[in-house]
Amino acid sequence: MRDLKYKIKQIIFDADDTLWENNIYYVQASNDFFDLIEEGGFPREDIIKAFDDLELKVVRERGYGSHNFVYILEELFRQFTKRSKNPLDRQRLEEIIRRFKAHPVNKPNLFEQVIETLKYLNHHYHLFILTKGEYNEQEGKIIRAGVADLVEKYFILPEKNDRAYLKLIEENGWKPEETCMVGNSPKSDINPALRAGMYAIYIPYTDTWKLDDEPIEDENGKLLVVERFSDLKNIF
Ligand SMILES: [Mg+2]
Repeated sequence: MRDLKYKIKQIIFDADDTLWENNIYYVQASNDFFDLIEEGGFPREDIIKAFDDLELKVVRERGYGSHNFVYILEELFRQFTKRSKNPLDRQRLEEIIRRFKAHPVNKPNLFEQVIETLKYLNHHYHLFILTKGEYNEQEGKIIRAGVADLVEKYFILPEKNDRAYLKLIEENGWKPEETCMVGNSPKSDINPALRAGMYAIYIPYTDTWKLDDEPIEDENGKLLVVERFSDLKNIF
């Protein structure tokens, strides 16, 4: 795929866990929460099961975003408190939530050389960001990360599925074979982009959210895998 450099006109970037760390805050808060409930005498696997079930339901019904995650913690705390013989530590729950809530408000922790790489790429390509989640929260992160001016436009959608990619291609007049998606999520970035006929560059991340993970299906040889974001400079 040496000629990718000349074929591609627009590059679209996922944001969370592609440009900056994100899921790590969710993992940390979940683990702290599991510790807290476990100390109330509940088996950890039961807590994790209850968490996974509710998370799936909430994502389907309410979508993504940190508010919905906080709702899950509060709701589970309420449910386990009802079942617990001893009172659970409400103050610790509030502390976990307080720490978690700081992450979308603070400047995102960008991966190495993201800014330099975007600056390099935007000389030759049309760059875009495509992220899913709650609009204001995602926009805030894009702006505070300092990447808003390095792309032509950012798209914040409730979901990144096949329909979303096809609509984006059509509305923007992009040719899929001239378009490349870059991201960490097989489910939201790589597979739907490949199915839409685009090229895709997968940058695996150790802590990809399990609801964003699935096996990659590259049937047309349009997938590249790189280790880090700055490797894009060697492709384009
Ligand atoms: Mg991502």
